[in-house]
Amino acid sequence: MRIVLFGSPGVGKGTQAKILCSKFNIPHISTGDILRSAVKEQTPLGVKAQKAMNNGELVSDDIMIGIIKDTLEQDKCKKGFILDGFPRTHVQAHVFDDMLAGMNIHDIHVITLQANEKEIITRLSNRRACAKCKNIFTLPEIEGLKKCPVCGAENSFYQRDDDTEEVIKHRLEIFREATKPVLKHYEAKKKVIYIDALGSVEEVTKRILIALKEKDPEQVSI
Ligand code: AMP
Repeated sequence: MRIVLFGSPGVGKGTQAKILCSKFNIPHISTGDILRSAVKEQTPLGVKAQKAMNNGELVSDDIMIGIIKDTLEQDKCKKGFILDGFPRTHVQAHVFDDMLAGMNIHDIHVITLQANEKEIITRLSNRRACAKCKNIFTLPEIEGLKKCPVCGAENSFYQRDDDTEEVIKHRLEIFREATKPVLKHYEAKKKVIYIDALGSVEEVTKRILIALKEKDPEQVSI
């Protein structure tokens, strides 16, 4: 199973990707997570990406394409993968097509999660992540908790630097202008599955699985 999870920042791509990768036993490739850990470790990649990320801008296509190329060549991706946060521009989408063609891969599903902007802004402002296991929570569910309910890490919740109101608005603008148009590219190839991302995490997962089963009945059980 090869999935591109597409949708605006805060729509729930990371949360759904984690569930789907454990269901299908394939790796979750989050370009945002890769960049954040490079920033944390201040590797040359992290130093280059940090400013753009903090300002809610996109990191350059060259850097992102290099990351994806290195990742997809790894053995762990041979059986499949879930891409979360890539491609985000037309250039990335076209180069990604060429990479897949070079690997003789034609069966990707572009799952597009949809929600209105008001809901997205609320979700992003209330989003907290665990620094250890990287799971994502919303404020009401972890209010007052000292330990991460998934991995047990103590005092590990943090708000991302780019989840402040001003940067959120800018990221949404960039999504509208640079990333959303990429969908047309996949629509022309009939690869897009639209999913309503409102509702509980479980409801959204179920919608994704039902839609995937329609496309690929042999690979999906619900
Ligand atoms: P995310 O966690 O997917 O919201 O990504 C966080 C930030 O990482 C984005 O706001 C961008 O600055 C950068 N980033 C992640 N993926 C990409 C990509 N495919 N192209 C450009 N920048 C990216």
